[in-house]
Order: sequence, then structure tokens, then C-alpha cells
Amino acid sequence: QTFEDAPFPPTVMRVLEEARYGAPSAIQAQAWPIALAGRDLVAIASTGSGKTLGYLLPALLQIQARGGDPALGPSALVLAPTRELARQIEDEAMRFSRVLMGAGAADQDHHDMHGRRGSGSRRGEAAGTPLRTVCLYGGAARGNQLAAMRRRPHLIIATPGRLLDFVESGEINIGQVSFLVLDEADRMLDMGFEPQIASIARNLPPGRQTLFFSATWPTSVREAAAQFASQRPVHVF
Ligand code: AMP
Repeated sequence: QTFEDAPFPPTVMRVLEEARYGAPSAIQAQAWPIALAGRDLVAIASTGSGKTLGYLLPALLQIQARGGDPALGPSALVLAPTRELARQIEDEAMRFSRVLMGAGAADQDHHDMHGRRGSGSRRGEAAGTPLRTVCLYGGAARGNQLAAMRRRPHLIIATPGRLLDFVESGEINIGQVSFLVLDEADRMLDMGFEPQIASIARNLPPGRQTLFFSATWPTSVREAAAQFASQRPVHVF
């Protein structure tokens, strides 16, 4: 399979070309059509498989398809076990969010709570609302993260405990999230995040799309996949 088989806009294709990715990875080639068709997905994939773009590009396209109206609240949510992974995912998302929703605007509007800003190297190529992401994790001040939330992000990348903290305090509403990803699901369960994930899921719309990524496939992960998927998920190994 080649990137040309994937229905991504030319601006996204150019980032992929510039990164010198020869072709989609196996997990990307399998996951993209399923995710873009709106199906729930269970993918057994580990780090290095290209899983992050396997779910991020469909997530970003869905945000774009919704017209990017941030007044609706965040439309995509990625849960990850650790701060380190969450920040890696955010970095990957920022490479594409710039070209997807309008580089010039993103340059002015995207600065997360680490103080990093979009470089805006593709200024003027795409038009529209800037696509904003926020990264929420424990062990850091809540205030900066809340301030970032006030800039009305389209995509939340979060560890479960900190996100639930904000949801239960009423500071974050995730009732409009239509695209949920659980990355490294086995690790999140090993770390004891099941109750937090279940509480987060109760605050999400029932009709949402759910994508599940896990390096291993033990009973605990099977049960969680059955519990959190809304429809019968497609399995990719
Ligand atoms: P991941 O498995 O998502 O953590 O990705 C591992 C690394 O592979 C990251 O540095 C990605 O930027 C890179 N990557 C993602 N997709 C591809 C691809 N199709 N070809 C080559 N490298 C890729």
C-alpha cells in the first residue's frame, strides 16, 4: 500500500513525504480505512509500529470534518498511560495540526502550557480555524492546563487520572467527544487506571467511535475492549 491510497489532503501528504516515510506501516494501512469508516477498532500494536499516526490522522480529519467549531467542545480524546507518552503524542499531533487547519492562524493561536508554539512554516497553505491540542497529565500544575483548556482545544491528549480530576470538578466537559483512543491500553490497565477510564467513558456520548491500541492481548484488555467499545470492534493484529 502507498500513501496515495489513503484519503488524506495534499498538505498532510506533503508532511508524510518530508518525513521521508516510504509507505504506510502495516498498522496504518489496516487502521486508516477502518477508522475513517467510523468503525470501532481494536489494534494489537507496539511502539515503533507507527500506531500513533494510525489513530491521529483519522482523529484530525474527523475534527476537520466537524468544521473545527471549538465552541462545540473537544471532539477527540486520546488517553495514554504516562506523561511521557502523552507529550510524544502531542508532538506528533502538532506536526499535522498546523497544516490541517491553517498554518498562519495556528502560529498565533497554538501555544500549549509548555510555552511551545507552532512554527507556522506552511503559512497560508490551508485556511480555516486553527486546530488546537491540549496535553493534560498529573504531577504538573493544574492551572496551566486549565488555562490551555480555556483556549478551547479540539483534541485532548491526557492521562486518565488528571483528565478525570478535571471532568469531576466540572472544569472540563467531554460530552461532545466523538472520537476516543485508548493508547497502550494494556499499560493503562496494568497501572490501575480501569476505574478512571470507566468514569471518563460514562461522561462521553454513547455513540462515539472508540479505538483501542494495545501491545498485548490478555483477558483484562479483552474485557476492557468489550466494555469501552460502542459497536462491535474490528480487530487488527
Ligand atoms: P509509533 O509506533 O507511533 O510510536 O511511531 C514510531 C516512529 O515511527 C515515530 O517516530 C513515527 O514518526 C515514525 N513513523 C510513523 N509512521 C511511519 C511510516 N509510515 N514510515 C516510517 N516511519 C513512521
